[in-house]
Amino acid sequence: PKDKVRKPDWLKRELPGGENYGAIKTKLRELKLATVCEEAKCPNLGECWKGGDGHAATATIMLMGDTCTRGCRFCAVKTSRAPPPLDPNEPENTAKAVAAWGIDYVVLTSVDRDDLPDFGAAHIAATIRHLKEQTEGRLLVEALVPDFQGQRECVDLVARSGLDVFAHNVETVERLQGVVRDRRANWAQSLGVLVAAKEAGVRVTKTSIMLGCGETPDEVVQALKTLRAHGVDVVTLGQYMQPTKRHMAVSEYVTPEAFKAYEQVANDLGFLYCASGPMVRSSYRAGEFFLKGMLQ
Ligand code: SF4
Ligand code: SF4
Repeated sequence: PKDKVRKPDWLKRELPGGENYGAIKTKLRELKLATVCEEAKCPNLGECWKGGDGHAATATIMLMGDTCTRGCRFCAVKTSRAPPPLDPNEPENTAKAVAAWGIDYVVLTSVDRDDLPDFGAAHIAATIRHLKEQTEGRLLVEALVPDFQGQRECVDLVARSGLDVFAHNVETVERLQGVVRDRRANWAQSLGVLVAAKEAGVRVTKTSIMLGCGETPDEVVQALKTLRAHGVDVVTLGQYMQPTKRHMAVSEYVTPEAFKAYEQVANDLGFLYCASGPMVRSSYRAGEFFLKGMLQ
């Protein structure tokens, strides 16, 4: 077999530890919040949760359980055709817990629930409304949502819930959609979701692309052009990392310089904000561009 692509030094970052981190973890257990930051052992955790240095304290919360109806080739979340039913109290309880935690910016994300008639759209919208109520509108809310199989009513429900940023990830360039994502996902459908959100009145739309899946630089630039031409405001570019040996292999480790060059392309295309780098995740320093006064 072919040798695995070796992991370069710029990706070897220590996971956070120390007293402060331990205290936060204990508090989260009390509040019964599941964060992607912890579950995915995200290396940016220390930086995101702390805030300061020009960005808001940010965390990413998972809704609708830990079991997804899809099976994307890059994703470590477990899959089932029929996950357990939704917890009807989750929207309110999550809002109370996040309000008590006292962060400035929250990213709500979820598994895909193709088993539900509205794919979970009403549940997500209710969580956003509760969060805004509980914090008297102070907390900035970004929702990273599924494609709702392209259903317009579901997009509208979330887009009109009072959120600040509507995020949906295209994940990869157009050509590799079928290789990287579940077969129910595709480029046109995801782009359509982002356009529909904007048409429903959302101020900021956001998407994310993983690099290192076999895309060419031209394809990345083309993807950025298409996204911007469809009104997408914020884009993040990060390195794909293989979660386990059973998942899709990494094709390439894109250099920090190449990430910087894509950031320049995105800025030249007129994106409001672009985060691009090997360690960038879709929620990385998500509150940063707000604090830069681009919107407020
Ligand atoms: Fe959490 Fe996202 Fe920051 Fe990682 S990048 S620590 S998942 S908010
Ligand atoms: Fe993972 Fe999202 Fe794909 Fe589900 S839809 S397998 S959570 S990336």
